[in-house]
Amino acid sequence: MGITPKISSDNKLMEKVTALCKRRGFIFPGSEIYGGLANSWDYGPYGVELKNNIKKAWWESNVYLRNDIYGMDAAIIMHPKTWEASGHIKNFSDPVIKCSACGALIRSDKVWDEIWNSPWFLSLRETLSGEKDSSYLLRWAQHEGKKLSPNLSLVKDPEVTMSWMADLHHTFHGVDLDFKNFAGMIACSSSGVPKTPCPICGNALPDTCTSVNLMLETYLGPVKETAEQVFLRPETAQGMFVNFANILDSRHPKLPFGLAQIGKSFRNEITPGNFTFRTREFEQMEIEYFCRPEDSDKVYEEWVEIRKKWYLDLGIKPENIRFRRHAEDELAHYAKACTDVEYFFPWGWSELEGIANRADFDLKQHAEYSGRDLTYFDAVEKKRFFPHIIEPSGGVDRCLLAFLTDAYHEEQVKEDTRVVLRLNAKLAPVKAAVLPLLKNRDEIVGIAKKLSGELKKKMNAVYDDTANIGKLYRRQDEVGTLFCVTVDMETLADKQVTVRDRDSMQQVRIPLENVEKYISDKL
Ligand code: ATP
Repeated sequence: MGITPKISSDNKLMEKVTALCKRRGFIFPGSEIYGGLANSWDYGPYGVELKNNIKKAWWESNVYLRNDIYGMDAAIIMHPKTWEASGHIKNFSDPVIKCSACGALIRSDKVWDEIWNSPWFLSLRETLSGEKDSSYLLRWAQHEGKKLSPNLSLVKDPEVTMSWMADLHHTFHGVDLDFKNFAGMIACSSSGVPKTPCPICGNALPDTCTSVNLMLETYLGPVKETAEQVFLRPETAQGMFVNFANILDSRHPKLPFGLAQIGKSFRNEITPGNFTFRTREFEQMEIEYFCRPEDSDKVYEEWVEIRKKWYLDLGIKPENIRFRRHAEDELAHYAKACTDVEYFFPWGWSELEGIANRADFDLKQHAEYSGRDLTYFDAVEKKRFFPHIIEPSGGVDRCLLAFLTDAYHEEQVKEDTRVVLRLNAKLAPVKAAVLPLLKNRDEIVGIAKKLSGELKKKMNAVYDDTANIGKLYRRQDEVGTLFCVTVDMETLADKQVTVRDRDSMQQVRIPLENVEKYISDKL
């Protein structure tokens, strides 16, 4: 019996990337020594470098290389009225379904993503994909299934469900069976009506859902009873809208112009998961670009192209990124148009960034709630109006995960598997590693340390002598280091070193004094 996944997926790839992140110090589970805090993650030495490089590349292309965008860093905690004006108090909620068996709350529009990633379905898929017969499924139900998903019909009542599925087996033999129906039938076989199974326990989920607000609350003031209730911002955008008048007064920009900000945001997500893809604390890179109302359609299209180029220039494989336009009924209440930048993650296409035409919604709302004039004065036409806003809004953590996954490669080198992160040169956490071939020869170590010290002034370079050269190469490949520079016995005589390229593994011998220029030129 074979099933058709909703996507062609590679769950092993995600496991490998996650393991590499922990092993090499990119990303660790948050608060691990206390048993971890659900879905919180800490960026380690290489992770923080990669993250900084992504933010730097974004800031450079959107702020430094343009004349019309100003940087900002607004406060995380804003006046509570901000969130009334923005609509977050009223509308920032997700629809949820509550499982009547295990009590889990599941975002109703993400149930199938959750099922796809749930341990029981993964395990079930593995059982089924190997062309196993029904006895395997029965054994799975009686053993592993009991631990993973006790409320699946297949687990609670294996014989009845199995005999019912045997008919299906005939019906669908050699035919691609629809994944949702298949999972549904397993969850609810007794009535024969496919139901949606709970991703946690496998029980059939109810059809009704409610909604919950996603803003994280906190209190300003030492005594909770008298303190003011405030929110941790769920997006950086509002910090830019409320400063619109300050920018006009201090920088006197002409339309079109924009504001850019990178910072932490918080959402009480119902079902965080997929590693760092959906977390409750995350970082955003947002631009609010103000333009004349009549230009907004054109400016919106230009931003879609600008953002496309940014991802491709930084090396994302074109086949792994797509730009999906929202249909009318998918648009948020404030948006006139929206394009999602989606990446083909191991679990399927998912959003990296949203580019929205927000029209004049935000400035009008804040003008109304604050009583301040947030219009723009056109000195030529002598008139005031609310500019329209185009907003490219991306997540740093999702972006990092996409770059990591995209760069992950395994290749066979003789009888070894080489794991290499083919990160773009701008993003690679380490540009050069200087490795002494013999760590007990003072002259060699001395030259290597001196060289790494010189390189450090120009780029992120490291010195490493903690293993043999084979292991050192392997470690540097795994973190995407662009060049490994080896100092050996011959260096003492000819003052030359071997420079090895990460991607081609080709080695060239060059004079010590040319190393920095050689690497800088390649960068
Ligand atoms: P989703 O539909 O995945 O919940 P969204 O459409 O609500 O995302 P936006 O409000 O458009 O997201 O936020 C802009 C960007 O911020 C997203 O494209 C994403 O990269 C990032 N982002 C949003 N929520 C999270 C989160 N919980 N964890 C990590 N990144 C997030």
